[in-house]
Amino acid sequence: MNVAILAIGNEVLSGKTINTNSAFIAKQVEQLGGKVTHQQVVPDLEDEIARGLEIAYTYADLVITIGGLGPTVDDLSREGVAKYFKTELVYDDEIYEGICEYFRRSNREIPNNNHRQAYKFKEGLVLPNNNGTAPGLFLKQDNKSVFLLPGPPAELELMFSESVRPYFIDQIKERKISNSYRLCGIGESYAEEMILHLYGRYPHLNIAPYCAPDKVDYIVSTVDAYEEDLRAFDEEFKEIMKDYYIGDQNTDLATEIVRLLKEKQLKIATAESCSGGLLSSTLVNVSGASSVFLEGIVTYSYESKLNRLNIDVNRLMEFGAVSEEIAHDMAFNLEKLTGADITVGVTGIAGPGGGSELKPVGLVYIAINVCGQIFLKSYIFNGNREKIRQRTVAEALYWLHH
Ligand code: ATP
Ligand code: MG
Repeated sequence: MNVAILAIGNEVLSGKTINTNSAFIAKQVEQLGGKVTHQQVVPDLEDEIARGLEIAYTYADLVITIGGLGPTVDDLSREGVAKYFKTELVYDDEIYEGICEYFRRSNREIPNNNHRQAYKFKEGLVLPNNNGTAPGLFLKQDNKSVFLLPGPPAELELMFSESVRPYFIDQIKERKISNSYRLCGIGESYAEEMILHLYGRYPHLNIAPYCAPDKVDYIVSTVDAYEEDLRAFDEEFKEIMKDYYIGDQNTDLATEIVRLLKEKQLKIATAESCSGGLLSSTLVNVSGASSVFLEGIVTYSYESKLNRLNIDVNRLMEFGAVSEEIAHDMAFNLEKLTGADITVGVTGIAGPGGGSELKPVGLVYIAINVCGQIFLKSYIFNGNREKIRQRTVAEALYWLHH
């Protein structure tokens, strides 16, 4: 089922109110197996609302409007929709009684202008608002339907789940099913290359990648009828991506690491240079990290590397602070100093300055010491300072997870 969303309000149009309601509805509709084919924002003007509907119905048979159901004169959604459908608005005692009841519950006088909210479409339905005063409305004429939902997100969300959701479930015979996959330690284009052949093999699946500096998510969806395809894809995808797949889209790598460390009763400590504490911060962000995270130090300067980590001055001079050797020594010495089972040393050039031909911006060394055995990795990351630091932490977490 195709759906168009029509947000109504000058506040939304001007950017004062961020249109989170449209995003909420779109996500819900997609989850319910519908398809959002169009979105609009129009001002609080009767004619513009009617015109917005006219456009929206060229994209979908069902329109969901947002806002403009309040009691004030600038709330004109009812009027705009009535104008488009050439239908009448009728006063409804029952709606008014409901509004009075809402005010009585909160011990308030009912303002006179609330009468405006007691109108419904002559041939339409009223959707109860259990979170506010303005009821929602529904109207269907020929094959065009419209839901009118209130602007305040709490009211809209409750009304969506109580009134719109059941309508969808009733209308849509085909259920949507989906799987999600979170990949770490791999870039978007490389991941795409590895699964390119699956796009052709599974034409009935909608395969959508979403990438961030620290992860690539895949959402794969279809309808009931292709459940078997989804299952086969799942097996194949996980096999291809076995080195990178960490769980579904709700899986957080740092949370997984903390869980694993807890399970194995291991403690971790970090010594960071270019990442400036971002690694320790990401780990500490996980609640319950205190039982596995021993300490993190930011040894940014030469002096700090010498004084806090006892790095050998000759090695520091010989190899430079950004080197495999110093990353190694950071992790190695940190183990001696803290007694942690796992220690991490990170050093690199986050830029934009400080790079050279031999050691370019984005060069990063990560050393991970696991109970006395040290693993070393070197990378050259692209991007600005922030992205290089994010990628550094993402890679460190990825290798810790392994
Ligand atoms: P009210 O009875 O509160 O006037 P209403 O149905 O008339 O409700 P609006 O007046 O359009 O709705 O908006 C009320 C409030 O709801 C806005 O100030 C804003 O905070 C929020 N709101 C409106 N539209 C949106 C939207 N598209 N996304 C997020 N919030 C919104
Ligand atoms: Mg209003």
